[in-house]
Amino acid sequence: MEEWLRYDVKRMVIIPHVNPDGDAIGSALGLNDVMNNAGFESCVIVPNDFPVYLNWLGSEGIPWIYEQNIDRCNKLIDQADVLFFLDFNDVKRLGKLEEYLSTNTKKIVLIDHHPDPQIKADYLFSDTNVSSTAELVYDFVDAIGMLDHLGVKGANALLTGIIADTGSFSHNSSRSPMYSIVGELIKRGADKEKINESLYNNFSEKRMRLLGYCLSEKMEIFPQYRTALIWLSAEELKRFDFHPGDTEGFVNYPLSVKGVVFSAFFMEKHDQVKISFRSKGSFATNDFSGAHFSGGGHRNASGGESKLSMEEALKLFRALLPEYSERLEKDC
Ligand code: 5GP
Ligand code: MN
Repeated sequence: MEEWLRYDVKRMVIIPHVNPDGDAIGSALGLNDVMNNAGFESCVIVPNDFPVYLNWLGSEGIPWIYEQNIDRCNKLIDQADVLFFLDFNDVKRLGKLEEYLSTNTKKIVLIDHHPDPQIKADYLFSDTNVSSTAELVYDFVDAIGMLDHLGVKGANALLTGIIADTGSFSHNSSRSPMYSIVGELIKRGADKEKINESLYNNFSEKRMRLLGYCLSEKMEIFPQYRTALIWLSAEELKRFDFHPGDTEGFVNYPLSVKGVVFSAFFMEKHDQVKISFRSKGSFATNDFSGAHFSGGGHRNASGGESKLSMEEALKLFRALLPEYSERLEKDC
């Protein structure tokens, strides 16, 4: 790998998943920083727009947003010697880029921490035990001997990915090697306080009120199934001046209710319903979303979508719970 990367590659494009979150953006910008500092012509293309709270990481015109710059992005991909796919395990997660890349002949390096990667990659760097793709990117850069090229910008981006995917070290964060990496990133100038401020204390007033509305008016608890549900219509989102990222994390709150082990969040997005699932313990939300909502992800954090109306999608969700009652009961 190292030889191949050093001698055959000049240009590279780094692509994280659609609806990019902190780990997708953080891991991509971290790798991009290393590669640019090492003298490669590297850029990041994200399938669609990302939350404004990640803007401070992506200054100087990166990343490119595919949906807004299709011709330019296609050209960058055509000129690349290698494509890095980050933080996803299925080409469906490429969004509008999926079609353009369906005839791709470029070499692909996949760096990801989701189970069961379905992508044909020339080089696969996958580990489901790590906290985040950002942590894996650090390992990857270390493995190819390029850590010297990781600057402050890259260190901030990678630490953002780790903090975002662990909820500030509250889950997926019990392996000690991750803390060594966090230490190395801080040594290189990453600013943990600034990252926490930008991820968690940087919301609009309307977003805060939307959260309050969800918890007081829209949260439904099914005690017999240890399950909670929140849903938002397009009209409600408009009323609260919704921006991408505003509802990030809402799905986690019901898990703070004693006894709740499974939480679902449904929202209308364009012509479909976008869904987030979270669980505590052994309940596999990725199996649930894969089986019923064309989705996937991790055991305790996954997502999916439905082409049904909101009403129909909610009806399906409620009707499914009895089928899962045994598995939900196990997680006392
Ligand atoms: P979130 O609920 O924050 O959007 O996503 C949680 C996890 O589920 C992430 O790991 C994300 O990559 C994955 N995920 C979210 N939506 C989908 C989807 O529609 N399909 C698949 N396969 N994974 C998803
Ligand atoms: Mn991730």
